[in-house]
Amino acid sequence: MEISSNTRLCGLIGDPVKHSISPNIFNAAFKVTNLDFAYLAMNVRKNNLAWAMKAVKALNIHGLNVTIPHKINVVKHLDWIDSEARMIGAVNTILNNRGELEGYNTDGIGAVRAIEESDTRLEGKTAVLIGSGGAARAIAFALSDRVEKLTILNRHADKARKLSAELTRKKGGRACSGSLGKRDLKLAMSEADLVVNATSVGMHPQDNISFLNSSFLRPDQMVFDIVYNPLETMLLKEATRVGAKVVNGLGMLVHQAAEAFKIWTGRDAPIELMRKIGNEELLRLSGRE
Ligand code: NAP
Repeated sequence: MEISSNTRLCGLIGDPVKHSISPNIFNAAFKVTNLDFAYLAMNVRKNNLAWAMKAVKALNIHGLNVTIPHKINVVKHLDWIDSEARMIGAVNTILNNRGELEGYNTDGIGAVRAIEESDTRLEGKTAVLIGSGGAARAIAFALSDRVEKLTILNRHADKARKLSAELTRKKGGRACSGSLGKRDLKLAMSEADLVVNATSVGMHPQDNISFLNSSFLRPDQMVFDIVYNPLETMLLKEATRVGAKVVNGLGMLVHQAAEAFKIWTGRDAPIELMRKIGNEELLRLSGRE
């Protein structure tokens, strides 16, 4: 689709956004669905966020994805927040609805879809979620009312404890919490059916790090690493080695983007095309660096 005077602009704000593959994924999706939309990556410094949000209204930008470091701070610049995003306390997708900025969080549902498309049912499962940062919070809220038991572990255990208390207060769910110390890890892993790494450990350029070696893992487990660069993290290599089922971060990346696509356009996203482009771009990125 040619850029025209009717083209609606969407984009990503964050800092840095230089290596983002979202423009490739979304522009390909808009093109194949014949939608007159375009997507740009826009580097917005922390101290420019308020200006950037005023610009969204002034320039009639249609939709935004939001990434580090703005997911929490952007909330106060919005006119309306969806209930899930409000509970999580962070927004990753904004719709400019006739001048009113609406905030959503599609990370949690993106993670759930990524797990479920690998033929894994969440109901009745015991899940261990590692991390308590932005992505982990979204996943915790999405998992808490789907799995039977949820344990949240984090390097700073107080953050995992607070998240678990929030789940109870805001959603009536219940989660155990702990640290990444050997004792807590061993106990949680011994009963886990599903393990989710929602920390940045293993992300490029620290490709060779994982806090879970094969002694914690079993063939009957499913291991989901939300890190997508590299696609096969050290954790997933270890999990594959013991014969566990593995899911990489591409599925979540694609499904959270597909939800944003639907919010902006009202149409279902071309998920398989988005996955193909995402896969190609991530492979290209890992080859270049
Ligand atoms: P964040 O808010 O900065 O949270 C980082 C998390 O990683 C925290 O739990 C932090 O623990 C933990 N962590 C960092 N370094 C650690 C270390 N050396 N040892 C143990 N734990 C460590 O980041 P985020 O936005 O949640 O993103 C986390 C990762 O998910 C990133 O790699 C990001 O690219 C990826 N992600 C993927 C998708 C997807 O669609 N696949 C979506 C969003 C994010 P403390 O709290 O103790 O510091």
